[in-house]
Amino acid sequence: MYSSVLEESQNPEQINYTVDVITKKQINCETIMEYKNMTKYEIIKWLREENPEELARLWHEADNTRSVNVGNEVHLRGLIEISNHCVRQCAYCGINIKNASISRYRMTFDEIIECAAMAHSFNYGTVVIQAGEDYGLDTEFIGSLVRHIKEEFGLAITLSLGERKDTELLSWRKARADRYLLRFETSNEQLYELIHPPSNNIKIDRVELLCKLRNIGYEIGSGVMIGIHGQSYENLADDILLFKKIDLDMIGVGPYIPHPSTSLGKNIKKMNLSSNLQVPATELMCYKVIALSRLICPEANIPSATALATLNLTNGRETGLCRGANILMPNLTPVKYRSLYEIYPSKACIFETAQQCQSCIASKIHAIGRAIGKGPGSCKKRNTGNTDVGKICSKF
Ligand code: SF4
Repeated sequence: MYSSVLEESQNPEQINYTVDVITKKQINCETIMEYKNMTKYEIIKWLREENPEELARLWHEADNTRSVNVGNEVHLRGLIEISNHCVRQCAYCGINIKNASISRYRMTFDEIIECAAMAHSFNYGTVVIQAGEDYGLDTEFIGSLVRHIKEEFGLAITLSLGERKDTELLSWRKARADRYLLRFETSNEQLYELIHPPSNNIKIDRVELLCKLRNIGYEIGSGVMIGIHGQSYENLADDILLFKKIDLDMIGVGPYIPHPSTSLGKNIKKMNLSSNLQVPATELMCYKVIALSRLICPEANIPSATALATLNLTNGRETGLCRGANILMPNLTPVKYRSLYEIYPSKACIFETAQQCQSCIASKIHAIGRAIGKGPGSCKKRNTGNTDVGKICSKF
């Protein structure tokens, strides 16, 4: 195959250039394969790495892998936080049902459509419709929302609405929602139960649910918090290996930021580990996980999370983009609701309008020499746009 490419090149300079590109690509592919098959021991070693020269190598390899596999475009997903009602009691989350100190809101149909119209006018390819686990958002409401956004604006739609019934997930997929986000938070079962108590004593296996979502044709996204109390280096390495095992299309990771109105924030029921085992909730650790996720799952879409901007407002998101990430999520939620969607405190960008977020994010992307992605920015290995929804849904 390579020789036929060379034969077609007439100009000797062009031939040299082509050979150079091919050789680099071969080297890249070999190196990428090595990283893709990293062992748990190797992952832990990187997570514990502190040597700046070694880390510079990690950032370089992750950025290189990102460039070869998902290109230079940064895709924008406009985030609409449609409700802060939630029936769950997650020990780390500021909008959990037990927090009586916040006002609750649920956006109207028209308000949400207005945000989607803005996404369309800003040329975002996707809207992310996110809420707590709110059963006030019923099957029909979300279904009509998805149909309306698809028909009116043709945007890709990501849903992030918690553990919903199979029939609802199926119905929203039939309405042509493209993607579903559900973080598994940690692969350590004991820690998971502590931070994410089951609703009505019904335990849902989130990994199993993600596989169901995949079977009905959603692109699936998941992820973990970094540095939550009780998370060991070994746990985090297992989490990263699980990203690969379930072949995620999207991987979202962010730092654990304690919320003072939660049981973990108040140091109640905390799982304590000795400091040499506990993963720190630092900016550096987040970059390591982004970089390792990119190396191990080269084709996944990986956001540089807004929570990184909370730790480093000056250039947290850009740094994430230079260490393996390829997605940003500008906020479209009306300003009057933003501060109420307080999963963690001191969230970045709660006072800026959607327009301000759009121009701020565009300038950050251009400043690092990357381009804004066009179109839905689906995961390259799948193409939900061409999926035969009827056929796939019958597998559920
Ligand atoms: S993490 Fe999600 S499910 Fe848990 S309390 Fe917060 S919004 Fe609800």
